[in-house]
Amino acid sequence: MDFSLTTEERQIRDTVRSFVEKEVMPLEPEVLRNEREGRPALDADVLRDLRAKARKSGFWGINTPEEYGGAALGPIMSAIIAMELGRTFVPFSFGGSADNILYAGTDEQKRRYLIPTIEGERRSCFAITEPGAGSDARNIRTRAVRDGAEWIVNGEKTFITGGNEADFVMVFAVAEPYGVTCFLVDRDMGWRSEPIPTMGQWGPASLVFEDVRVPEENVLGEPGRGFELAMEWIGQGRYMIPARAIGSAERMLQMAVDYATIRKSMGRAIAEYQAIQWMIADSQVEIEAAKWLTLYAAWRVREGLDARHASSIAKLNGAVMANQVVDRVLQIHGGMGYTKELPIERWYRELRLLRIFEGTDEIQRRTIARNLIKGHARLGLIGE
Ligand SMILES: Cc1cc2nc3c(=O)[nH]c(=O)nc-3n(C[C@H](O)[C@H](O)[C@H](O)COP(=O)(O)OP(=O)(O)OC[C@H]3O[C@@H](n4cnc5c(N)ncnc54)[C@H](O)[C@@H]3O)c2cc1C
Repeated sequence: MDFSLTTEERQIRDTVRSFVEKEVMPLEPEVLRNEREGRPALDADVLRDLRAKARKSGFWGINTPEEYGGAALGPIMSAIIAMELGRTFVPFSFGGSADNILYAGTDEQKRRYLIPTIEGERRSCFAITEPGAGSDARNIRTRAVRDGAEWIVNGEKTFITGGNEADFVMVFAVAEPYGVTCFLVDRDMGWRSEPIPTMGQWGPASLVFEDVRVPEENVLGEPGRGFELAMEWIGQGRYMIPARAIGSAERMLQMAVDYATIRKSMGRAIAEYQAIQWMIADSQVEIEAAKWLTLYAAWRVREGLDARHASSIAKLNGAVMANQVVDRVLQIHGGMGYTKELPIERWYRELRLLRIFEGTDEIQRRTIARNLIKGHARLGLIGE
């Protein structure tokens, strides 16, 4: 069993870490200011410049195949890079990537949707959730009815990340008589979006489709195979969610350690009290556990093994870990932790989402338990 990184992998991690420290973290005060004054976290120009700088350093298309100009660094490096990016709350990711399911498109769909998304010229969003169907995604009601060479789509989607900014949507609708089908629908084909205010900075949207006409050639994959595509989209990102959270938790824990050594109470640094030490110790234990579960899930993806069970475990554990760590870090900071002078409260609000989206804690537990009960997963395995 080899836990080490190659020299090249270590170099990549160190270069990303120094990019994040030098180029991204200095933007933190600006992000807090912008968000608190109701503006987007980063100005579009600032984001564009940052992505261009990253691209110059080779950080572009981290997990995009080389034939599309990407770096194709693979799942493990993608997870490690996400951990590094998670060290800052600046909502930044390297450019040059596109939703995995767009690779399932026809050559023409790749030309119109996949490649412009990789190039950053177009923005996608993924829409399956509806007001009446979240965890119960098989129960979606959005309908597509064929009319000659077109489909007419009617329905409403909710909580769609990037739905206000996207210029096309991968939308899932029941297409009679086939069943759930994925359609690529440009905004100018007629769907509308409305922002949904949330407790975090993550601003999703509701999308409304009223007699939106979609040409036949905009069906992604085969009619009736949409649910599989949706699960493929969700499955791909599952281990990336805890990966980013690990970076955030480590950065915050370091803040707590630093603060505990300088903050005095009753004549001593609070770091000397066992109550504080236990919070610090428990946090590191949980972060380390999350790190290895996440890398194990990424390893399974890299090896072409079924990673669904491992990813559910990593996602559930990582989401819970991040929320426990941020809560302890806030507690160690006392009243200061609750103020807007420090970013802890912002992280607290943002990380809460991890227990909800892309499969709630309860749905992950349901999946894990059912896999064991039905024999799809077995106990006692190592590295198989
Ligand atoms: C900020 C944000 C961004 C999002 N982005 C997207 C996006 O880009 N695209 C998209 O399609 N969706 C997106 N979602 C939707 C998200 O995936 C759903 O909110 C999530 O799947 C839960 O569905 P729900 O909100 O309808 O809750 P419900 O499914 O109604 O669940 C309510 C509660 O019941 C529990 N529950 C439900 N079923 C069971 C069960 N069988 N057993 C035990 N407990 C159960 C849940 O765990 C939860 O605690 C986003 C959500 C948020 C908040």
